Amino acid sequence: MCQSCNDTFQTLTRDGESRRNFLRSGAALAAAPLAASVATQAAAQEAGASLEASEVQAWAAFDTDGSFAPHTIPRRAAGPKDVVVEIMYSSICHSDIHTYKGDWGMPQFPLVPGHEMVGRVVGIGAEVTKFREGDIAGVGTMVDSCGTCANCLADREQNCLNGTTFTYNSEDKISGGVTYGGYSKKIVVKEDFALRIPPGVDLAGFAPLLCAGITTFSPINHWDLQPGQRYGVIGMGGLGHLAVKLAAAKGAEVVVFTTSEDKIADAKAFGAAEAYLWSDEAAMRSQMGSFDLMLSTVPVAYPMQQFLNLLKLDKTLVNVGALFPIEGAHGMMMGFGRQSLAGSMTGGIAETQRVIDFAAHHGVAATYEMITPEQIGEACEKVVNKQARYRYVIDMTQA
Ligand SMILES: [Zn+2]
Ligand SMILES: [Zn+2]
Repeated sequence: MCQSCNDTFQTLTRDGESRRNFLRSGAALAAAPLAASVATQAAAQEAGASLEASEVQAWAAFDTDGSFAPHTIPRRAAGPKDVVVEIMYSSICHSDIHTYKGDWGMPQFPLVPGHEMVGRVVGIGAEVTKFREGDIAGVGTMVDSCGTCANCLADREQNCLNGTTFTYNSEDKISGGVTYGGYSKKIVVKEDFALRIPPGVDLAGFAPLLCAGITTFSPINHWDLQPGQRYGVIGMGGLGHLAVKLAAAKGAEVVVFTTSEDKIADAKAFGAAEAYLWSDEAAMRSQMGSFDLMLSTVPVAYPMQQFLNLLKLDKTLVNVGALFPIEGAHGMMMGFGRQSLAGSMTGGIAETQRVIDFAAHHGVAATYEMITPEQIGEACEKVVNKQARYRYVIDMTQA
């Protein structure tokens, strides 16, 4: 019996006597097929409607100044392996801002950003196996990849050799045109690129895990951060605060370096053992050569040698924040300590599911402020001015 028939059957029997009595009843036997047929037909019509191509309410940037306005975007009809997700919460990542400002090249306007979203599955294609209608799903930084190259086969879809399709401002290889992100009411996505969100979690607090969470989780996996090791987190905004929470949950000794004095107390509340201002020269000196791994989450380029100096021999500083030319790394000094400076960007789908499950297990979620879609532009300005504490989540349920 398919789920929808099963649900219909349970609805029909739940309020009456036992299932056996129900089946014994001649009247029920006569009525049930008719009622079930009507209910199933209605459900099928509803499901069919939710799989059709549609025009969807969204909020778009029309130029580089970041003033957002309502906009309507097309979403494709769901194919057999697609899910339709009604977006409930969508959070603002600094990448959204870099993109509309043209920091990484001029985007295609109107631009609908958003690659941290959580919502309810309202339609499933005929061959979908991972989700049922009503499930909660997340969508992160990418929505498609070739699936056949060496990197995709190694669960590294973000590094697809034939070109990952990112969630917004990316060539849409299925529908043509450009992809539109999560500042919208609905998205249609291959089930392979949708993540399962476990029941009982704070859905708004989980949206940021879809980019900030995986971006900061992947390096601690790849560089194998162990409990008790010293882990330095440089910058504590949207990415940094999740880096602290996730590494602390893993049992690492986390030390935060921030430029905002009021974040020192927050860092400790998030699980950091210590927190310092960059400008505190004595503190910086006291940390020399003491870290097993460091993560830079600062969204702009800055001289990095001051932090490379804090690594132990042979250790690595991973940059996930400044996706620009690296500044201020000194060959001689890095050579002396044989330190590495590495890059990392988001993570594969399987690893993204791991961070979601890890966060659910350890009670980790983002710290956030909820906003309405009308406040997107203002919130983006606050992110740039380091005023976010620590993610802005757009409430689409009221939009
Ligand atoms: Zn590929
Ligand atoms: Zn992001």
